[in-house]
Amino acid sequence: MNPASEPIVVAIDGTSASGKSTNARLVARALSFVYVDTGAMYRTLAWYCLQKRIDVEDSKAVAAACRRWKTQLICVEGAVRLLVDGYYPEKEIRTPAVSDAVPKVARVPRVRTWMRQTQRACLRFGNLVMEGRDIGTNVFPETEFKFYLDAPLAEREQRRIADGVTENLQKRDRQDSERAAAPLMIPLGATIVNNGGQTPQQTSEWILAEVQRKLSERTARRART
Ligand code: C5P
Repeated sequence: MNPASEPIVVAIDGTSASGKSTNARLVARALSFVYVDTGAMYRTLAWYCLQKRIDVEDSKAVAAACRRWKTQLICVEGAVRLLVDGYYPEKEIRTPAVSDAVPKVARVPRVRTWMRQTQRACLRFGNLVMEGRDIGTNVFPETEFKFYLDAPLAEREQRRIADGVTENLQKRDRQDSERAAAPLMIPLGATIVNNGGQTPQQTSEWILAEVQRKLSERTARRART
């Protein structure tokens, strides 16, 4: 395959409420890339387990559910959606119960293997901006475009409160960082973006400038070879 025609993946990882979704959406829109929220996929599985009364503490039961559920990937207005039984649970996956359950399903190795495969399959939609916890480390470790977002805890908590959500972010970050399978960590070669005190406009413009710079470097490198 001609490397120049391979889709580009911009990987945006980081802590909870570090601005991944807002910035990833802005960057995707500016570049006309497809936006992929991988957290929403894990949330969908957590929601599905809660709906079906599957114990999220039971790794085997969660893995079995993930093996059996009927899903479909579609792209709507530049964003990927994971449908389950033909349904997109957009609002349902944002409840405190789902936020609490999601790190428990996300730590199951078979779930992570399924998610990685499904998330890599998003390449069929074209160039991507994909946000999550393990995109630069595990899903697309080969991409040159890796960013790791973070901000002080107090500021991240304020952002969630402004969204009308009270949540123990520290606990979720700890669960995500301490799991054995694809834990949250800074990917090798990632640009760290500490966006404390910044507006999404400022952060996304900075990320865009970095992506453009790396794209120009890549073009120059390929022209030389
Ligand atoms: O980004 P969001 O807060 O919606 O992610 C919800 C949860 O999904 C995370 O706390 C984490 O447990 C899990 N997740 C993950 N790997 C990803 C994306 C999300 O483990 N790539």
